[in-house]
Amino acid sequence: MTGIVTTPLRSEWLALRGRMAADVVHTGRSSDGGLERTDERPVLIAGLAGALGNQLLPGDLVVADEIRGDAEPIPSYASPFLFGALQRAGLRVHHGPIVTTPRIVDAPDDRRALAATGALVVDTESALVAATAPSGQAAVIRAVVDTPEHRLLRPGTLIRGPKAMWALHRAAPVIDDWVAATCDREVLLASPRSFCAGVERAVEIVERALAKYGPPVYVRRQIVHNVHVVRDLERRGAIFVAEVSEIPAGSVTVLAAHGVAPQVRTDAAARSLRVIDATCPLVAKVHSEVRRFVARGNTVLLIGHSDHEEVVGTRGEAPGQVVVVSGPDEAGQVSVADPQRVSYVMQTTLAVDEAEQTAAILRERFPALTGPRSDDICYATTNRQLAVRAVARTADLVLVLGSANSSNSHRLVEVAAAEGSRAYLVDDASAVDLRWLRGARRIGVTAGASAPPQLVDDLIRCLSGLGRVAVTETNVVDEDIRFTLPREVT
Ligand code: SF4
Repeated sequence: MTGIVTTPLRSEWLALRGRMAADVVHTGRSSDGGLERTDERPVLIAGLAGALGNQLLPGDLVVADEIRGDAEPIPSYASPFLFGALQRAGLRVHHGPIVTTPRIVDAPDDRRALAATGALVVDTESALVAATAPSGQAAVIRAVVDTPEHRLLRPGTLIRGPKAMWALHRAAPVIDDWVAATCDREVLLASPRSFCAGVERAVEIVERALAKYGPPVYVRRQIVHNVHVVRDLERRGAIFVAEVSEIPAGSVTVLAAHGVAPQVRTDAAARSLRVIDATCPLVAKVHSEVRRFVARGNTVLLIGHSDHEEVVGTRGEAPGQVVVVSGPDEAGQVSVADPQRVSYVMQTTLAVDEAEQTAAILRERFPALTGPRSDDICYATTNRQLAVRAVARTADLVLVLGSANSSNSHRLVEVAAAEGSRAYLVDDASAVDLRWLRGARRIGVTAGASAPPQLVDDLIRCLSGLGRVAVTETNVVDEDIRFTLPREVT
């Protein structure tokens, strides 16, 4: 059963009606429009509203994350989907609480009092209609017509009214997408997913450094490849820089989980930085393999992506003796000075199958090729790929939480796609395109090793704002790996 769209005013109904494929119900003002409280359908209320602060302008849109009225606040679980979609449609949109009052609020003091509660806009209907929807499945989009500075019942309303209506009209395709995305569905949760031991350790190192030494703590590059992790640590006093040359001499400095070339340590020492190394021990293992092979006089073929920070750092162990091989094509063409003295290592976060294919070509071309004692692709990468493969087989769609610069997250998308599923990488729920969800009744969900587990919970809650969600977890292996912390933070 798909969701229902309602508007209190006939003018609002007209603003949407001409541009929408889905039906729009005109409920009338200050009532629930006769919608049954037992109605099982998600409800979206669209219309005009008054802004409570001057940061909102006439014609701005507000998506409610919470709808407040006389009773308990009503959460709007799917609101990040709508907020993200309207932003991408180029509309000026805000995301926050909406309050419903019995009468129109116009006086500045009344608006100020409501603004002090954190609400962004006020209307006279949303909470009443939202109460008819199943828990969490109400959504509200309101277009600002008046503000504390531009009040109602002034001549300017004749201009501001059409501006707000135009914003609603422009939002219509997104509302149509919301309707098409509403349905009951199953979430197939891949396990293991999200943070690995190396990422947990790196984040904990920065947290402990902040607690022990106090802010600021400088971090060279993103501590792990995730915007949410970086923003959170920034809020707590970490300062992220591209190079150690940007860090004041003597400062506490953390080196990121992906590892660094020895030259970076030399540069840090020259600036007397108090270095704490958050390099994942499994990346450090690859560095030591490179040093071992190079010491034997071998050329080292590093299977990986040349612009990835981990590969840049690993290659930096011996730039003249390490050659990056990005995949099977390059493996078929690469040449070395002495085919009797050649070794290979791998980036830790590659797609297991493709990396093995690349290594097989190298073995065939260079029979004397030596490699690491055990695979360089780390346990976390391997396990997350196995898990996403298991859920992708029967999913209509797979959503992978992770940032665009996260190598292991990209690989999860590729593995899911190779199983025949549509698959997308998203930073968080607001990046999910509602159009992907149309007809997707079984959605696989996973997260890259650098994506916080909270993002997965948030995404599932958002999906449950579009209809009932049943979650099934597929666990392919239990993980209990922990790495010890460096002494500087213990
Ligand atoms: Fe370490 Fe693997 Fe996690 Fe990278 S993905 S930080 S190599 S455990």
